[in-house]
Amino acid sequence: MNDVCPTCRHYAALHEQAKRAGDYSKATDYEVLRRRHPAHTVHIPRQPEGRAT
Ligand SMILES: [Zn+2]
Repeated sequence: MNDVCPTCRHYAALHEQAKRAGDYSKATDYEVLRRRHPAHTVHIPRQPEGRAT
């Protein structure tokens, strides 16, 4: 997903990191945090990025 807020991107990155490290319980924790992120109840403006997709 490219349209998530920065905090969710952060959680998603930590989620991937934990998964790669084989720490699945931690990965699940971050996944839950990302899903529950309260910012999702408000409008999240899309931020154009100069990075390659
Ligand atoms: Zn969020």
